[in-house]
Amino acid sequence: MIRSFLALAALSAIPALLPLAAEAQYATPTPTAPMEASSVPHTGPRLSYNALHVDGPYIALTFDDGPGKATTPRLLDLLAKRNIKVTFFVLGENAKDNPEILKRELAEGHEIGNHSWNHPNLSIKTDDAVRSQLLQTQDTVFQITGIKPKIMRPPYGALTERQKKWVTEQFGLKVIIWSVDPLDWKKPGSAVVAHRVVEETRPGSIILIHDIHASTVDAVPEILDGLLAKGFKFVTVSELIAMDHPVAKPSPSPAAAPAATATPAPVASVAHPAKKKAN
Ligand code: ZN
Repeated sequence: MIRSFLALAALSAIPALLPLAAEAQYATPTPTAPMEASSVPHTGPRLSYNALHVDGPYIALTFDDGPGKATTPRLLDLLAKRNIKVTFFVLGENAKDNPEILKRELAEGHEIGNHSWNHPNLSIKTDDAVRSQLLQTQDTVFQITGIKPKIMRPPYGALTERQKKWVTEQFGLKVIIWSVDPLDWKKPGSAVVAHRVVEETRPGSIILIHDIHASTVDAVPEILDGLLAKGFKFVTVSELIAMDHPVAKPSPSPAAAPAATATPAPVASVAHPAKKKAN
């Protein structure tokens, strides 16, 4: 029993350890969720969202770590030109520094999510520290825009299963991870970033990129036009979640899990521990 507990603890500790190797700082990269995550069905209670099961070619494009003074307005122009709505997971400290950009994001129909105040690894923080990170950002976004985010994304995708449940229950925030990650923070070149996104995206995908990198914004026209050409339709994360439905099963499964049992994280952030920071 002790052995299996340790094995579990070791498993759940993996995502928490990743950012340590990558220096937990706000502009540092996010450990990646596996590309194939979008095909993995969710079972049991939903503690976080990697990809959704939707009818139709709907996807959610998400931008983390902004708003960025030098990059986000240009991105907003590219989105407006194509009438595409996305989701911004903002840092509280950047929202505070760029209130006009935050207001513009909302005014142009995009969704705002909470990405913590200044990008710590929440999975190794106390509950008080996590509360402070989340509430400070909720309050700042509310003061600037009059709305409070309903979704959050933990920096590095790092949040323990217990914290996911606690965050959902305490703050009413849905925990959003991702299913497509082109590793844009490694700056592999705009064409590579665009190619990865366009190739990996499936109906129900949640795509992670960052609006604080000029090289990512450079890739955006190709990403948007490539996905549009494939027939994808862009919605916000909350809209995508609203479309979610359980995977249809051909026959009742005798192995249906009791709803209250904690289930292992679907795949989020555990499978590729080797990613290092790029810059
Ligand atoms: Zn981030």
